[in-house]
Amino acid sequence: MNINWSELGFSYVKTDKRFVSLYKDGKWDGGVLTSDDTITMSECACVLQYAQTCFEGLKAYKTAGGKTVCFRPDLNAERMISSCEKMKMPVFPKERFVEAVAATVKANEDYVPPYGTGASLYIRPFMFGSDAIIGVKPANEFQFRIFATPVGPYFKGGVKPLTVRISDLDRAAPHGTGNIKAGLNYAMSLYNIVDAHEKGFDENIYLDAGSRTYIEETGGANIIFVTRDGTVVTPKSDSILPSITRRSLLYVAEKYLGLKVEERKIALSEISGFAECGLCGTAAVISPIGKIVDHGKEICMPSGMSDMGPVTKKLYDTLRGIQLGTIEAPEGWIYEIK
Ligand SMILES: *Cc1c(COP(=O)(O)O)cnc(C)c1O
Repeated sequence: MNINWSELGFSYVKTDKRFVSLYKDGKWDGGVLTSDDTITMSECACVLQYAQTCFEGLKAYKTAGGKTVCFRPDLNAERMISSCEKMKMPVFPKERFVEAVAATVKANEDYVPPYGTGASLYIRPFMFGSDAIIGVKPANEFQFRIFATPVGPYFKGGVKPLTVRISDLDRAAPHGTGNIKAGLNYAMSLYNIVDAHEKGFDENIYLDAGSRTYIEETGGANIIFVTRDGTVVTPKSDSILPSITRRSLLYVAEKYLGLKVEERKIALSEISGFAECGLCGTAAVISPIGKIVDHGKEICMPSGMSDMGPVTKKLYDTLRGIQLGTIEAPEGWIYEIK
């Protein structure tokens, strides 16, 4: 293997094996690992016409002790089940999901970056309706696949707090699909993220589509705030994707750091009162926000534009330590690939 781990970015690198299971006549087959990275299907496949697809994202990496592990893959399995149920796709059983993730990582073991590089093996489980559907209804046949691709350290060249804008467009309708990991939630975000980048912003913060009053999340990460007296606060809404990182950070805040934690509605009008802010998700764990721009009005976080705020940093270091095996993990959080 000739990979410069510390120079890797976040783009697709084809690895040796991927997992494929087919659903037909009402049941999943046993699944195989294959070298074939291509898919052949009907031009009228349900996924191509009506976007019947959902996905997951998690990482495998080496711990300080040299083990290859994943972080809470059971929660990815559970979340994919809720995505499938809402998209009228067949559930891939939780135990089988976790086993398939493990098999995919094991088959690509050479691509798991060494401890200390900050790089990891990104794992992408996904499912789609594959047979021809022209009248609007769910597919009858599906593929569940998992591929893995090595990705570089998120904070290459150091932490740079983000500048984000309050979006004029909405991400997810009330009672819609915002709380599942469906490709459709990303398709509609592409226009807005390109527009944000063209205007010099790193991300869009979406408001609740019903009242456009409360903070929800960005296109691909949840948001946490820290109050001036050190309470960790995160928005509560049925249209936010339940981030595994965010749920883990709240647990760490409370149980490891003894901080107060609140999940509640957060109004746009109150964010100038917070001390710290960050985006959280599998990719970065936490990426600090330095500045939020609301239609020309700049809200500068007291933590500034050069580093994470002190509480954000503690949360980041503790969760990273748990993931990398230098801090003892809660029961069941670290799944070893053997
Ligand atoms: C995947 C995703 C996240 C982050 O979830 P993690 O489980 O922490 O990786 C946040 N928001 C959206 C919209 C997502 O799709």
